[in-house]
Amino acid sequence: MTIALAERVIALKPSASIVARQKVLELQAAGKTIIDLTIGEPDLDTPAHIIEAATAAAKGGDTHYTVPMGTPALRKAIAAKLKRDNNLDYALNEVIVGVGAKQLIYEAFAATLDSGDEVIVPAPYWVSYPDITAIHGGRPVIVDCPEADGFKLTPQSLEKAITPRTKWLVLNSPNNPSGAVYSREELAALADVLRAAPHVLVLTDEIYEHLTYGDRVMSLGEVAPDLIGRLLIVNGVSKAYAMTGWRIGYAAGPAPLIAAINKLIGQSTSCASSVSQAAAAAALSGDQSCVRDVTEIFRKRRDRMFELLDGTPGLSLRKPEGAFYFYPSVAGLIGKTTPEGKVLASDLDVSLYLLEAAHVAVLDGGAYGMSPYIRMSFGGAMEGIEAGCRAIRKACEALV
Ligand code: PMP
Repeated sequence: MTIALAERVIALKPSASIVARQKVLELQAAGKTIIDLTIGEPDLDTPAHIIEAATAAAKGGDTHYTVPMGTPALRKAIAAKLKRDNNLDYALNEVIVGVGAKQLIYEAFAATLDSGDEVIVPAPYWVSYPDITAIHGGRPVIVDCPEADGFKLTPQSLEKAITPRTKWLVLNSPNNPSGAVYSREELAALADVLRAAPHVLVLTDEIYEHLTYGDRVMSLGEVAPDLIGRLLIVNGVSKAYAMTGWRIGYAAGPAPLIAAINKLIGQSTSCASSVSQAAAAAALSGDQSCVRDVTEIFRKRRDRMFELLDGTPGLSLRKPEGAFYFYPSVAGLIGKTTPEGKVLASDLDVSLYLLEAAHVAVLDGGAYGMSPYIRMSFGGAMEGIEAGCRAIRKACEALV
């Protein structure tokens, strides 16, 4: 029987990272040892004090539905975090908890997009922004942010992209996949453009906030407090506290928008897991040294990856300022021939060649809206990073 699916679902491509993951699993099932540099999460264990808080919550009877917005204890911890780390004041009705940051982006767009509304997405981008926009009938407006601009949106290209139909600008700093981090000055310059376009809402995805290897990451709200009334900050515990599977994200924004998201959560997931919410509250309000430890682990992995890949023929490498991905240009590999006689015509060809010849899985830049690049994650253990880098170098050297 054919199932008549909705048009918006038919139009949707499966997430590129999920497809790549599937391919890795298939090769592994066929007995091949694949080094996986596609992963979008830390391989680390959730810190013990967070697990203990979750266990205590479960044993203590925190096993019921919570209000859709999230427990007052967690929302208090989020508001306190926003004050402590970002110097921003949010009341409890301006903060909401979701099943991961992803749900909050999903519900924020569901709450605001009418058919044909535009969402400005700077490229390279995290794959979900354009797809979530399309699911809700919106039109993603992709704006190229070339490497020459540090992969960052310039005030000029923002100005050009804004139309009367623009609903949202999405800013992601530190950026997945490029690792770019916006400075205070860069945010201030974008804020100037936004002041002249008061109908534009801004979603700042700050999920990699703590995974940064230079100065502290600034939030747009800190730099331009006058924009707070149309800013939605999205963040979560997945990356900084190694808690991807607990599925807790949060958002802070104007009360009417939060109330609309609350209504949608009430009709979709009802609430995030009560036990996970207790764990997230412990993460945000407990000892923060675990976050610094995670960052230091990633800094070492980043530096090692750079050291092992620097000078690889055809790869143009820059050290990411944040997150846990390298996003090198592979322009120097395009047009080269593999030992089997195949000419590499695209970054997808490069990623397939690395999978077949080096048994290393990476993702093609096309999936992130900018080619020819590849994304290599250092979310995994050092051993795999080292073996992967050596195999990539060898495979690149074998091209003619
Ligand atoms: N934003 C970005 C840029 C991400 O890379 C991810 C995770 N891959 C998310 C949001 C979603 O995170 P969460 O686990 O909180 O849903």
